[in-house]
Amino acid sequence: MATTYDAIVIGTGQAGPSLAVRLAGTGMKVAIVERRRFGGTCVNTGCIPTKTLIASARAAHIARSAGEYGVMIDSSITVDMKKVKERKDAVVRRSNEGLEKWLKSAANLTVYEGHARFAGAHQVRVGDELLQADKIFINVGGRASIPPLPGLDQVSYFNNSTMMDVDFRPDHLIVVGGSYVGLEFAQMYRRFGSEVTIVEMGPRLIQREDEDVSEAVRTILETEGIKIRLSAECIALEKRGDKVAVNVDCSSGDKIVVGSHVLIAVGRVPNTDDLGLENTGVAVDQRGFIQVDDQLRTNVPGIYALGDCNGRGAFTHTAYNDYEIVAANLLAGDQRRVSDRIAAYALYIDPPLGRAGMTETEVRKSGRKALIGKRPMAHVGRAVEKGETQGFMKVLIDAETKAILGASLLGIECDEVIHSILDVMYAKAPYTVIQRAMHIHPTVTELIPTMLGELKPLA
Ligand SMILES: Cc1cc2nc3c(=O)[nH]c(=O)nc-3n(C[C@H](O)[C@H](O)[C@H](O)COP(=O)(O)OP(=O)(O)OC[C@H]3O[C@@H](n4cnc5c(N)ncnc54)[C@H](O)[C@@H]3O)c2cc1C
Repeated sequence: MATTYDAIVIGTGQAGPSLAVRLAGTGMKVAIVERRRFGGTCVNTGCIPTKTLIASARAAHIARSAGEYGVMIDSSITVDMKKVKERKDAVVRRSNEGLEKWLKSAANLTVYEGHARFAGAHQVRVGDELLQADKIFINVGGRASIPPLPGLDQVSYFNNSTMMDVDFRPDHLIVVGGSYVGLEFAQMYRRFGSEVTIVEMGPRLIQREDEDVSEAVRTILETEGIKIRLSAECIALEKRGDKVAVNVDCSSGDKIVVGSHVLIAVGRVPNTDDLGLENTGVAVDQRGFIQVDDQLRTNVPGIYALGDCNGRGAFTHTAYNDYEIVAANLLAGDQRRVSDRIAAYALYIDPPLGRAGMTETEVRKSGRKALIGKRPMAHVGRAVEKGETQGFMKVLIDAETKAILGASLLGIECDEVIHSILDVMYAKAPYTVIQRAMHIHPTVTELIPTMLGELKPLA
């Protein structure tokens, strides 16, 4: 016998819990299912723990450079990795337990702990229980992709989840993958005191970004002593005693890097392969992402997909925005759409990269007439005062409409500063609105109007 609900939510990531509580708040009878830890990737193995660890790493970095500010520390700086992990665990626990309590105390909401698998288009099995509902919301997220690299099955390695258990300092961490996740771990462990080598198959780091951004990020990391091996086309791994040898066969440099530990950070795959989707008729693409329309509906009536598993975003804010879109459409008669949102994200190396809208490369490809403004952080007073002048800010403008097309801000506080640009993009206001705005001195943001006053045609 199946237990009937008005709605079933699968997964407690960044969209599911808010949606489940909101639906239950309208009087609907709702079930939510979680197979592992409440809060999903962001809370347990993604954003929150990594940013907490990055804060510890920054504290170590600042302590080491204190002398440059005239602050003398008489003893050497050591990092207690057990304490670092404890601090991270405490921050994670706060979110994870808070979420569990919230869900378990919500009226009209039943929490199931176990793996959910579709038994039919509107039936879900969790252990011995069979649940059914007209509306089912899939929020199953993703996991680290582990490619079939030669020798990988012969060595032990970390992914972003297992890195969360590390309470020691690896002597030499080899990070396979020079994109967002890999770079954050690389800088963090370098600052904890490990030797770090990044091995990237492509010719440059973070290849989705403009070349000047990749180059500046590379300089930031190399300045801290991180070794970077690019164009490593035939990565292969081999056990060497208690060490791991990684064949990097790059165009230059040693062909083999020997490290103590390896982190594989080469992308994410959706958790849709063990969901019983074959029993539903829900369409997925070649990589397993659930196909959805602009309002996050799948091709099967009543089934929706939110968050990383639909391939329409790969961030906490895109997953949460998916919840807002579904709730607005279903409960508020407000036809919000995925295509209303503007791409925005940050890379949390230090200094961070804040991104909004199009890259320069995308603007060039679009063929439109554009203007560009660029300012090195060395010409930003606030950065100079703080002694953190690495990076630059860059903005792209449509020459005809004066609309802001995109921005890449790499520099201190730029994960925050980017919002001054993003909000004007959402307002669909011309760039001149910011250019004429009076900003507070001394801030990084005060130089955005200045940069916008020095635009040049994009050659
Ligand atoms: C190292 C790292 C750092 C990151 N940093 C950032 C950042 O700084 N900012 C940012 O915006 N994003 C960041 N992200 C991405 C962010 O974590 C994800 O985009 C976000 O968590 C996606 O949320 P979601 O709701 O789609 O899925 P998830 O958070 O992955 O949650 C899915 C949940 O579903 C559960 N589940 C899966 N299958 C089933 C099943 N069959 N039955 C029951 N339950 C199931 C899972 O156990 C999980 O709890 C980071 C990711 C990583 C890996």
